[in-house]
Amino acid sequence: MRIAAEQNTVRYSGRGTPALDRVSMEVPAGSFYSVLGPNGSGKSTLMRALLGASRLDSGRATIDGTSVTDWSRADLAKVLGAVAQTESVAFPLTVTEMVGMGRYPHLSPLASESDRDREAIARALEACDMVDLANRDVTTLSGGEFQRTRIARALAQEPKALVLDEPTASLDIRHQMAILELLRSAADQGMTVLLITHSLDLAAQFSDHMLLLADGRVAAEGTPDEVLREDVLTRVYSWPVTVRQDTQTGTLRVVPQRTSASSASLRNVT
Ligand code: ADP
Ligand code: MG
Repeated sequence: MRIAAEQNTVRYSGRGTPALDRVSMEVPAGSFYSVLGPNGSGKSTLMRALLGASRLDSGRATIDGTSVTDWSRADLAKVLGAVAQTESVAFPLTVTEMVGMGRYPHLSPLASESDRDREAIARALEACDMVDLANRDVTTLSGGEFQRTRIARALAQEPKALVLDEPTASLDIRHQMAILELLRSAADQGMTVLLITHSLDLAAQFSDHMLLLADGRVAAEGTPDEVLREDVLTRVYSWPVTVRQDTQTGTLRVVPQRTSASSASLRNVT
């Protein structure tokens, strides 16, 4: 599925400048696309716009060429999965029950879970390394375990496109890499992956395309080589960075530089 934003502008009431200012981007079907940018640059706002979950002041967001607001919610839920940045646990469900919620869009009314549903749930638990914790009450999970449960729920949905907002933020190296490898192979098999992340190095390793947002606008768009440029990153993040190429893998490494304490300031950081 192709996901696109055409000149999207979002203004929140009471704020002078728009959170998203005429942002256009396109995630080709079956590609791995990362959205980067400093805190407050509009990443989550863009994600909500693409999902049809927030009102646009102008422009439109499309899924396979059809405006997201013209899709029926039921049809969209069958094909588009989402892992939002945060979520609180409301009920003491087991891990399996919460992952099983990903199957709801596929269940016909009154029908109980089929073998196909149970297989999708089992595959998702396995993929996210949650098999051993399958019967645990989700309110007792660590931050990273809960995060993996939320990703498993999205995978159990078996969507054609998956949008994730900083999904690996609280995961250790192994689980971070395992999830990204999984998303990469899903993309190789045709799933569209849209990943919001602060990890420039991971994005460089896994992405086909990247979008760099700054103050609600597109600062750079293209392949990792095109986007991860020292001058652009230093300006957008208001911090000196160097970009090196890993001699073994050829992927780019972004290294923030030390500065003297007196010149460092978070004053202008939102
Ligand atoms: P990011 O995900 O890149 O950190 P967000 O999209 O969450 O950024 O936010 C972009 C800007 O919009 C920020 O300045 C944020 O404070 C503001 N913002 C986000 N949501 C709201 C809201 N519901 N009401 C008012 N301002 C908001
Ligand atoms: Mg965000």
